[in-house]
Amino acid sequence: MFVVNFKYKRNIFVVFAVLTVMLRKQDIKILTELVDLKDVKVILHRLHDGIGIILQTESIKSHSTCPRCGTKSHRLHQNHRYIVKDLPFGEKPVFLEINRRQFKCEECKKPFSEKLDFVSQKRTYTKRLAHKII
Ligand SMILES: [Zn+2]
Repeated sequence: MFVVNFKYKRNIFVVFAVLTVMLRKQDIKILTELVDLKDVKVILHRLHDGIGIILQTESIKSHSTCPRCGTKSHRLHQNHRYIVKDLPFGEKPVFLEINRRQFKCEECKKPFSEKLDFVSQKRTYTKRLAHKII
């Protein structure tokens, strides 16, 4: 009896979790405005108890400039998603799940990581959070 009950609750939870990540366009617009990072939009959000708000973000730009030769590349090589800590919303910690894409330069044929203005390479927090703490 207990097991059945547990399974049922689990299903309800799964359905609820799926519903909460199905964002309406309006929510995405508001969250993107709140996050307020240049060339970045929020595409998903989730709330983890005891952790905080996780916002999945994406770059609006479809290209990046090769650091070696300065050529603009549109050729996506790989996605590289990871989480960085950002400024909190009130009391709630906020984390951004970002995608630092790798492009392949069409000129020198070598892959390179895109430069993101709001987070330095290999850092686990945004620049504006670092500024606020220092
Ligand atoms: Zn190049």
